[in-house]
Amino acid sequence: TELFDAYRERAAADRAAADDGLNAYTWVADAAPAETGAAHDAPLHGVPLAVKDLFCTEGVPSQSGSRILAGYRPPYTAHVVEQLERAGSTLLGKTNQDEFAMGSSNENSAFGPVRNPWDRERVPGGSSGGSAAAVAAGLAPWALGTDTGGSIRQPAALCGIVGLKPTYGSVSRYGMIAFASSLDQAGPFTRDVTDAALLYRHMVGRDERDSTSLAHPDAIELPKGVDLKGIRLGVPEELTGEGIESGVREAFNATLALAEQLGATVETTHLPHAPHALSAYYLIAPAEASSNLARFDGVRYGHRTQDPDDLLDMYVRTRAEGFGPEVKRRIMLGTYALSSGYYDAYYGRAQKVRTKISEDFRAAFGSFDFIVTPTAPTVAFRLGEKTADPLEMYLQDFCTVPMSLAGIPAISIPNGLSDGLPVGFQIAGPAFSENRLLNAAYVLE
Ligand code: GLN
Repeated sequence: TELFDAYRERAAADRAAADDGLNAYTWVADAAPAETGAAHDAPLHGVPLAVKDLFCTEGVPSQSGSRILAGYRPPYTAHVVEQLERAGSTLLGKTNQDEFAMGSSNENSAFGPVRNPWDRERVPGGSSGGSAAAVAAGLAPWALGTDTGGSIRQPAALCGIVGLKPTYGSVSRYGMIAFASSLDQAGPFTRDVTDAALLYRHMVGRDERDSTSLAHPDAIELPKGVDLKGIRLGVPEELTGEGIESGVREAFNATLALAEQLGATVETTHLPHAPHALSAYYLIAPAEASSNLARFDGVRYGHRTQDPDDLLDMYVRTRAEGFGPEVKRRIMLGTYALSSGYYDAYYGRAQKVRTKISEDFRAAFGSFDFIVTPTAPTVAFRLGEKTADPLEMYLQDFCTVPMSLAGIPAISIPNGLSDGLPVGFQIAGPAFSENRLLNAAYVLE
């Protein structure tokens, strides 16, 4: 409980500081929980855990960064949180995020933006910006986030920490407030790669309540590699060309040189369909979101408008008041893409591109152990810098979205600074290659 109290005080102080703090937390536990549940010899006994707001936590506010879920306290806890509690962790707090995980800067939250601890005038990345900022600033030893198109890897990069997006299906989505169900994947934010392995090993597992969840074929081991002898790294030309800021490129090249010194071979390769990944993602993700978000109707959860004229008026005004502008934009995009007459032209084609991207990776992994890219094309940008142009914001996901569409694991590790701000290096591997991926990341970190 001493450890818990130390973190709890820091997290609570940040929350109390309001505009002077990072705004990383939306809720902080009042006190160390009474000694119940996990045994003293549980592997994570007493280690506090910060959790992105969109994980349902029984009796604890869970709003997914949205006004429409104001006052919602779920009657149950997400599978992965439950599993970590069983391993001995205690819930420290809920972290701020972009509304329904839509965003790359954490400026789309009903709770206001999160600040980057490296420079408080800059964004922490998104959508799991609160988790990333909390870990980077020492307000949590580690945290859970979710990644649909980059929301673990990109904020990890912008905050200078480690973020793992695991193989799709390896962690149950039960109790995660859904954004795009075929892409959403929970994963750890940690200070180093060993911690990522340690947290992830207690997250994996088949859960009957998520029909897409799968048992991981391997027990997750703590990394212990010393070199990269015999490891073949592929650098996809399509993801490492134009659009990558010069400082980010320099850090990337320096890490490639280090990898070679450590015994890896580095070669250029191709993912021919990767340039279409963003377009496919921004049809598929909004399409799924428009369907997932239909449940927020003012009847079942959270916010309901005052004095509606009739049922339709209740739906319309509840949703108009409850959703923020980015969420509304995605619902409109997704509804359009799924509407009859346009379905084949948009959603159908996007699914075909998705298949092609998976095939590109499969082909590349025939010749390479891992595909490596910068995690994000830029370092942390200024608050407000990209809010006026959604397309500009979507470019942040350029290097992370292809792996999401393919369902494969990818990790971001810090690889130096550019203008005093952290840069991230992304390593992606075949489905269920987490042990090898964590080992390579451990050697390079
Ligand atoms: N930035 C991307 C989006 O807005 C990814 C978000 C995510 O991974 N949750 O959709």
